[in-house]
Amino acid sequence: MTKRVLTAQIKHETNTFSILPTTLDSYRARNLYEGDEVKERLKGTNNELAGVMDVAAEKGWELVTPIAGDATPLGKVSSEAWEYLASAVFNALKNDGPFDGVLISLHGAMVAEGHDDAEGALLSQVRAMVGPDVPVMATLDLHANVTVKMAESANALITYRTYPHIDMAERGRQMAELLARQFAGEVDGYETLIGRLDQLDGFDHGRTTQEGPMTEALRKARAYEEDDGIEVVSVNAGFSFADIHDTGPSVTVTFSDDREHARSIIADLVAFGWETKEQSTVKHFSPEEAMAHVSAAEASDKPFVFGDFSDNPGGGSYGDSPLLLKTMVESGIENAAFAVISDPAVAAVAVQAGEGAEISMPLGGKFDPSVTPPFEMTGTVTKADADARFIFEGPMMKGVEAVLGPSAVIKIGGVETVVITNRFQAYDRMFFVHFGIIPEEKSLVAVKSAHHFRAAYGPMAREIMLVDAAGITSPDPNKFPYQNVRRPIWPLDGEWD
Ligand SMILES: [Zn+2]
Repeated sequence: MTKRVLTAQIKHETNTFSILPTTLDSYRARNLYEGDEVKERLKGTNNELAGVMDVAAEKGWELVTPIAGDATPLGKVSSEAWEYLASAVFNALKNDGPFDGVLISLHGAMVAEGHDDAEGALLSQVRAMVGPDVPVMATLDLHANVTVKMAESANALITYRTYPHIDMAERGRQMAELLARQFAGEVDGYETLIGRLDQLDGFDHGRTTQEGPMTEALRKARAYEEDDGIEVVSVNAGFSFADIHDTGPSVTVTFSDDREHARSIIADLVAFGWETKEQSTVKHFSPEEAMAHVSAAEASDKPFVFGDFSDNPGGGSYGDSPLLLKTMVESGIENAAFAVISDPAVAAVAVQAGEGAEISMPLGGKFDPSVTPPFEMTGTVTKADADARFIFEGPMMKGVEAVLGPSAVIKIGGVETVVITNRFQAYDRMFFVHFGIIPEEKSLVAVKSAHHFRAAYGPMAREIMLVDAAGITSPDPNKFPYQNVRRPIWPLDGEWD
């Protein structure tokens, strides 16, 4: 008989230190597809649901796709948005069933108003609706804060294995293939166990581009997956910018047999995560340290590249901290460039004033002035674009359109500064090139990004430096007013045994 499977996507990485809520409009601005539109828009893409669709087509399943939504990281998901997304799944379960399986693509670090463990709430409700015997499985981002509720509610949890993330479709396919094996009677079913680490962060924040704790943990995980009855071993680096009880790294094992072995794998990987918690493949500099390093360097025809780590919109930061920019300007650096500061007021004034105009006004530090004050700057508008948009050159997001809104380049001291209306992580060269700035020709370029920028800027960089200036994605946990996370937790409470 034809198998009927529900598949949906509800994703968000929530930075609870942001005062800006994630609304339904935030989803609409990125992607929010419903019904058959989900299949039309996502088929053949590098999305988890595309992997599910491929397997469904091969196996002849009937696929019901109520919703697929993703929004850029920001503050808590509004209750309106949460209700809308979750009830799309619940209504489909109620009205379009019965289903033989449920496959959901989640992030794993979503916090909604009233639901600190949003994915746990979603999965447990799904479980309650379908009963104990229908397989429920989920894929997760490698920065998931996985909870006991999530592991208990789902039969299988499958986490990305790459950062930058490039294996979304592959993980979706893996999830669907697990279900197919159960349908074929090769296994009786699956269960998932979780082991959590009493840490805010771990496994080198999940970096897989440099050899370190994450790559080693993943090698161990792959080896364990060869063992009988062990199906999926996932290493979750966690997302520390969430002040909830369950924040932090974890290990999950999905097994079809041998619970005791699953337990021992978790014990081994949790111990490994604890032993390696202080190992990082990157170093962070203060703005002053970073500029001193640049000033002392010999001349070169390649640029230094700074990642403005702590104000990375990709992790839910506001993208308007001017602190690193201010330090660069005050150092007297020449031939430098900065992308991008999100400041709708300054962008509007600059566009209105036009190219060649000199403007003086506070820049940045406006979304939440408690993070960092504005920069009282004076600069010359060298480029103005009332409707800035371009196509990402890649590698990430290649071919997708970026809509920046009214934007301008303001030359402040020796730094050509790209000021835009919307909010972006500047991981593409086009954030400069669109405005006529060639980053390769600069002495120093700074971008609001933590890690993803390496793909486009790595090849041109004479040296990459990560700067901890100011923002709500700082690598320094002592800068955050944690109140809800379980205690004791490393590094807030130091070291213990
Ligand atoms: Zn992630």
